[in-house]
Amino acid sequence: MNIIILGPQGSGKGTQANLLAQKKELFHLETGKILRGLAGQKTILGEKIADFQRQGKLVPNEITIEALKSFLTEENFKKGILFDGFPRNLVQAELLIKELAKYHGVIDKVIFLKISFEESLRRLLARRNCPVCGRSYNLVTLPPKNGEVCDDCGVQLIARKDENEEAIKQRLAAYQKETVPLIDYYRQKNLLLEINGERPIDVIHQDILEKIG
Ligand code: AMP
Repeated sequence: MNIIILGPQGSGKGTQANLLAQKKELFHLETGKILRGLAGQKTILGEKIADFQRQGKLVPNEITIEALKSFLTEENFKKGILFDGFPRNLVQAELLIKELAKYHGVIDKVIFLKISFEESLRRLLARRNCPVCGRSYNLVTLPPKNGEVCDDCGVQLIARKDENEEAIKQRLAAYQKETVPLIDYYRQKNLLLEINGERPIDVIHQDILEKIG
């Protein structure tokens, strides 16, 4: 089973994708993370990617697709892939159909996590990560036990480079312009499952499991 999870930044895509991938034993393809990994390398490509990410802009399609190619393998398609953060525009969506066709695969379902613009902004500004173990927190929806300190490592949490107000607004604008058209695109293909993302994590997870069957 190949599944796409769509939704604005802060909708809980990553959290729900983690839970679902574990439950259904799917390969979790986290585009933002893969690109951040490349951006952390001191290469010309890495610096280019870092620049787009810092500004909250989409990385150009050619670079994104090249970065993902090594994960679009027969082995991963056999297992089933959960696409988290890809596709983010129509060009990427069409390309994905072609890649899947190579292995006689299709997209089975598209989960759309729906939250308001205001809620998205509120959650993104509250996101924190542990600089040591990478664990993610949200001061609103998933807070650490004490202040802004990692439960596991006891170190001060930090915000991602693209999680300042300006970059967040840019990312949400990119989502509106480039990614929102995918909602209708998949609705017309009868693949879209709309999920209310403004509920507790476990309630949303159960809802997703029921809807994908
Ligand atoms: P995310 O962690 O999913 O919020 O992604 C962080 C950043 O990675 C985005 O703001 C983009 O700069 C880049 N990115 C992630 N996925 C894509 C994609 N499918 N196409 C282009 N850029 C992407």
